[in-house]
Amino acid sequence: MAEPSTMVPVAVLQGFIAEIFTAAGCDEAEGKQVAHHLLSANLTGHDSHGVIRTPRYIQWLQEGKVRAGQSLTVVHETPTHAIVDGNYGLGQTIGPLAVDLGIAKAKQHGLAVIGLRNSGHIGRIGDWGERAAEQGLISIHFVNVQAGELVAPYGGVDRRFSTNPVCIGVPTHEGPIILDFATSLVAEGKVLVASNGGKPVPAGSLIEPDGRLSADPRTLYGEIAGTHVRDSAKGAGALRAFGEHKGSGLAFMCEILAGCLTGGGTSGPIPGGKRSRIANGMLSIYLSPGSFGAAQFEDAARDYAGYVKASRPAEPGVEVLIPGEPESRVRAERLAKGIPLQPDTWAAICATARGLGLTPPAVPTPNG
Ligand code: NAD
Repeated sequence: MAEPSTMVPVAVLQGFIAEIFTAAGCDEAEGKQVAHHLLSANLTGHDSHGVIRTPRYIQWLQEGKVRAGQSLTVVHETPTHAIVDGNYGLGQTIGPLAVDLGIAKAKQHGLAVIGLRNSGHIGRIGDWGERAAEQGLISIHFVNVQAGELVAPYGGVDRRFSTNPVCIGVPTHEGPIILDFATSLVAEGKVLVASNGGKPVPAGSLIEPDGRLSADPRTLYGEIAGTHVRDSAKGAGALRAFGEHKGSGLAFMCEILAGCLTGGGTSGPIPGGKRSRIANGMLSIYLSPGSFGAAQFEDAARDYAGYVKASRPAEPGVEVLIPGEPESRVRAERLAKGIPLQPDTWAAICATARGLGLTPPAVPTPNG
């Protein structure tokens, strides 16, 4: 059963996380930006990609696996497309730079394709779809994790894919519609949350090397008692792809687009052995609806969303939702009430802060 949560006010948590990243080597602006995007994941209900990542990101910074203060190197560029290298900068710094390049090109030429490679973990991909939609653009993102094998393909037990998210963002006059999901049955971070006493993952989300299905985080992380930072290299099993052969096929294509086409590489091994760090690759397509002659696109998309929502509920009283709706509802609720964190998650963040010489803020305990 999930342990009761510690509720941390949004401003307190955001300030604390920014302080941690600044103490670990980011300048103040970068610390604030990393905190903003981690909080954005918590605010949209994706705790798996929120502040729970802090101890791991700080460990990577300290080990030199990601770097503070990086920018993009343009490897290849035309007016409508580019391949850019993130130089293993923090994903919350590199992600927005790559997206803004795509936005600028698509606004000028109607469409753009940006291949990003060697970026630190870019977290919740929905943030990037939202960023483009705020500028009136449709965007489609295929993501992989170089050297991040975690997911068994359909019919297999060995890790071959990463959790390879796909995101499609659409602007409308009433706010963006954002589809954003991992192609694994659950995102790795959800197993991370479960391993910290949070919501358990659904039965059969994982697979043991002998083919037995599992929901035990130890399938992915090995023994977890007494550890603060989970290490997926220590588990013998794998996550499973969603949707049987269809989700597995989508994950495969993310490797081809975000790994092979960007030049960053797939989640699999490289010649000469394993890479010592993971990095995100992302192939993003940006489309300006106006340049397709679809002047009324945003109204048409919103009207269609209304039509879909008007489908009679399968379960009486349970509303049909469109992509992005659960996230915007959670955001409204959490902005008002604060971010619920599992006690182990909060303890791990505080331990990381203390290791950097910081004093954690006082927050209400789960039992009042
Ligand atoms: P998920 O299973 O919660 O699915 C989320 C998507 O489904 C959203 O678009 C949401 O609006 C929609 N949705 C959810 N409930 C719905 C309902 N009842 N009706 C209609 N639509 C509904 O997400 P996930 O697969 O757990 O992914 C979580 C996050 O992890 C995502 O933000 C993803 O980008 C991120 N991720 C990142 C990486 C990375 O390498 N950076 C890897 C994997 C996942």
